[in-house]
Formats: sequence, C-alpha cells, structure tokens
Amino acid sequence: MDETISRRSLLDAIASDPSSTDELEILVKKVYAQYLGNLKGELADYIPELAKVAPDQFGIALGLPSGRVVSVGDANAEFTIQSISKAYTYTMLLDLIGADETLKVVGVQPSGDPFNTISLDARTNRPLNPMVNTGAIAVAGKLLELLGKEAFDKILDTFSQAAGRRLSFDQKVFESERDTGHRNRAIGHLLRAAHVYEAPVDDVLDIYFKQCSILVTAADLAVMGATTANLGVNPRTKQRVFGLDPVRQALSVMFTCGMYDGAGDWACKVGLPAKSGVGGGILAVVNRQIGIGVFSPRLDASGNSVRGQLSCAKLAEDLGLHAFDALNHGSSFLRGLL
Ligand code: GLU
Repeated sequence: MDETISRRSLLDAIASDPSSTDELEILVKKVYAQYLGNLKGELADYIPELAKVAPDQFGIALGLPSGRVVSVGDANAEFTIQSISKAYTYTMLLDLIGADETLKVVGVQPSGDPFNTISLDARTNRPLNPMVNTGAIAVAGKLLELLGKEAFDKILDTFSQAAGRRLSFDQKVFESERDTGHRNRAIGHLLRAAHVYEAPVDDVLDIYFKQCSILVTAADLAVMGATTANLGVNPRTKQRVFGLDPVRQALSVMFTCGMYDGAGDWACKVGLPAKSGVGGGILAVVNRQIGIGVFSPRLDASGNSVRGQLSCAKLAEDLGLHAFDALNHGSSFLRGLL
C-alpha cells in the first residue's frame, strides 16, 4: 500500500517538474518487460485485412500533462483505431448538439452484450450506448446529417487535433470492412427504419468504416487520452479540441460501457474510463492527469487486447490510478484515518 502511495506521488512530482520522468520511464519499461512474452489471444479476423497484421507487436505510451510522451516498444507502430473512434465521434456529437439532443440519438446505458449485437433499447427504440456498434453507427449517421459531405474530413481533422499530428486512414482496411461488414449494414438499416437518421445507409456506413480505419499509434492514443484528461485541451499543442461538458459525458460513458461486455470487470479491476478496439488498441484516461495508449493486437474473447488489458491494470495498480482507490491520493490525512 505504502508503495502505491509513493508511486502516486511520482505523478505529482512530474506535474510539478515535467522533466522528472526517469522513474516513470523505468516503471513503464518494467510493465512492458513483464508482459512481452505473453502471446495469448488471437487477431480479429472477421475483417480480412486485420488478419494480416503482425500479431506480436506491443507498445505502451503515457501522455503526460506537460505534453511529453513516455513510451516503450512498438509505441510508434500504426494500426487502425477501430472502436476507440467511437469515444471520440461521440464527444464530437456532444460538442455539436449537446447532451440532451444526443440522448435522442443514443442512450447511456451499459448493454452487457457483445459489441456487434443487433438490437435497440426496447423503451426508446434507440441504441443503448455509443460504445457498441449500434450506437456508434447512429452517431455516424447524425454527424453525416449535421456536417454533410465534409463529415469524415471533420472527424479526421478532430482526431488529428486530439492526437497533435496529422492522421490518415487505411484505405485497404476501409474497403475490407466495407465489403464484408454485412452485420454493420444490417444495423445501419435497423437504425434507418427506426428514424434515428434519414441519411442513406451506405453513406452512413462509409463514414463509420472510415472512422474505424483511421491509423494511430499507441503514442497517438496516449496524447488523445491526455487531451481528454486535460479537459479537452491537447497538452502538446495547447489547442482546445473538445468542450468541458462533452468530455465529462464521454468519460462517464467510457467508464461504464467502454470495454465491451468486459466493462464491469474492467471498472472494478482497473477503475479507469477506457475504450478498446479490435485493431488491438486500448486508450485509458486518468482524469485531469494522463492518457494511456497500449497496442497489442492479440485479443481475448470479448475483443479486448490481452496485453493491453494486463498493462493498463498493472500501471493502474503500480501508480494507484483506480478512480475509487481511497489511498490513491497518497494523503497523510487519509492514511491517518485507516
Ligand atoms: N470496425 C469494427 C466493427 O464495426 C470495430 C469493432 C471494434 O473495434 O470493436 O466491427
């Protein structure tokens, strides 16, 4: 316990002296070394192009409040963002129309079902939440209606601002998913039938498949996470990318729904808002502190990166990051009460 407290104060020390990252770098390298040999899990192969990814890549990155990124391994290897995009298109929609109007498009209830389940909330006839495919496709449809033909360019611009560098998308992964994503197409029609949007289903899905094909690195995810942690301002570029209320709402939904049907276990074990993608990425946010990005494409049965989950859990434990860890503030006041 005491060790956790002193490691937490390591983040405090970095906050007051941004150059003092040596100890943190050692800790991140240790976590990397601990899981490097773990080759459990399989690549996502239901999108044919994803089955061609080199399976044993592994990188971890932390985005700090100073804008600095501490990273190890394949932290600069590009992969497709996949479902992590859902957290950021949702934040965009909240920014554009606010929480009340967004609730008319998609709810905020955890589903407990697999990410690609074809169903709507029986009470509202809307998707349960924006972190599953129904919800994310609903958000894409609404963004298309609001932004027109520019919608995907605006998504790419916003993601680039959050990452602090110009991002691109993988044309082959996009085409691979467009040609095989029949289940998502079924969801697109279900939403159109429910009048969640009136836009042509193929146009909505093109946006959704393209947003999933945006290429990022673990370091990009760390900076995107740090932008969210920093209340919507990119700590590297100092640019405001998202408003305060959208960030709060998106973090709440990431906390309860971000890790597919493993979200409850994750909330208890790791205790951080996060989003994973079948490309092997996990993005986690330590509110008002740091962003964490991990890339390792071997997935468990829920579609979450095996080493990504282990690394986040270990970092959370070692640095005392769990949102409800009473000791994580390291305050002598709290310790005195125990
Ligand atoms: N593009 C993927 C799909 O819709 C994203 C899934 C994911 O990352 O969970 O099937």
